[in-house]
Amino acid sequence: MNRPFPEATGVNLLPGVRIESTSNVVSQAICLPHPDRFFEIRFESIGGLGAHAAGQVLATAAVLHMGLNGAHFSSYGSEKKGSLVRSFVRLGHVERPIRTSAPVETPDAVVVFHAALLRNPATRAGLLKDGTFIYNAPPGPVPEELAALPRTARLIRVNALGIAMEEKSRPNAVLLGTLAGAFPFLPTDVILDALTEEFAGKHPEAVASNTRAFQRGATEFELMDGVGRAEGDLPAARSEPAWGYQTQPPGGILPEPGNMAWNDLSASRTGVMPVLDVEKCIHCGVCDLVCPDFCLAWGEGAEGGKYERMLMGVDYRYCKGCMRCVESCPTGALTRETETPGLADRLRVPLFPDLIP
Ligand code: SF4
Ligand code: SF4
Repeated sequence: MNRPFPEATGVNLLPGVRIESTSNVVSQAICLPHPDRFFEIRFESIGGLGAHAAGQVLATAAVLHMGLNGAHFSSYGSEKKGSLVRSFVRLGHVERPIRTSAPVETPDAVVVFHAALLRNPATRAGLLKDGTFIYNAPPGPVPEELAALPRTARLIRVNALGIAMEEKSRPNAVLLGTLAGAFPFLPTDVILDALTEEFAGKHPEAVASNTRAFQRGATEFELMDGVGRAEGDLPAARSEPAWGYQTQPPGGILPEPGNMAWNDLSASRTGVMPVLDVEKCIHCGVCDLVCPDFCLAWGEGAEGGKYERMLMGVDYRYCKGCMRCVESCPTGALTRETETPGLADRLRVPLFPDLIP
C-alpha cells in the first residue's frame, strides 16, 4: 500500500543525528504489536559481527518503507575486534515521536550475536515476560544460563555463524532474517530490500550472499520450548546504588579493577578455537612464542621424564581465536575446531587457578 510519507518520520542513526526520508511514499503500513508504546529491540554483540549495521538497516527500513517512526544508535567498547557492542532500535507509530536516545532497558526482543555473551546477565536484563530472545549458536545443548529467561518468553536459536560461513556472508544478515521471520509484523521483503540497498553501492558482490543468508535466517531457526524458568519481566540492568550525574564516583567506575588477569576475551572468538591433543604435543613451545595473549598453560614435566615443562592446555578466558598457535604448531597437536556452547569451559586449563579457577 502506498501512501504519502508522513512529515514526522525520521531515523536517528546516532544520538543527535536525524535523517529524514528522501522518498515521498512508504511501501507498507505496519501495525505494531503494542499501539500504546514503542517496540524495542536490543542487539547484543561484539565488534566485527555487524550489529550496528543490522540496527541501521532495520530502522531505515521501518522509517522509509513501513510508515513507522524509528530510532537507532549503538554503544561501543573500545572500537576493536571483540569489544562489546550494544545496538538499540525503537519502532513507534508515526504519530508518536521518539524523543529519547536512552539505551533500551526493557526490550521486547533481544538478539545475541555471540553465544559467549550469554554468560553475562546484562545480556538478558530487562527482557519482558512476553518478549523474544534470539541467540546465535549451533545445534547442541542449550546453555544453562538461559534458564534465567522468563518462562513465558519465546526463545529462538539460529546457527547464524554457520549459515554465514556457508553463504560467505556475516551473522548480521542471518540474524536480521531471523528477527523478521520471528515477528510477522516485520515484512521480510522490505527489510531484505533495505539490506540489499545497504550493500548495493559499496559491496555489490555481497548482495547475493547476504540475500541467501537473510532468507535462510528467516526460515532456519528453532523455537526452544521449556527453557526459561523465571516468572514475570526480568529486572533491568542498573547499577546499585543507581548512580546519577550527581552521585557517581569521580573518575568513573571500573567494574573489574585489577590487571589483565581479570580480562575475559572469550567473546573475541568468532566460532573457532584451538584444541590441544596432548598425545601429539612435543612441548616445543612454538605456540607459546606466537600467542599474543599468553593463553597457554604449562606444568612441570614428570620426574625423570623427557620434558622439564609440559603444555597442559589453553586458558580460553584469554584466547581470542587468532589461530596463530595452530598455524605454527609443527606436529598438528593444536587444531582449529568449531566452538560449540560449553566446549571452552570443559577444555579450559586455568592459568591462575587460585585466582580464577
Ligand atoms: S607448538 Fe604444538 S607441539 Fe609445540 S608445544 Fe605447542 S602444541 Fe605442542
Ligand atoms: S588462538 Fe591465538 S590467542 Fe588463542 S591460544 Fe592460539 S595464539 Fe593464543
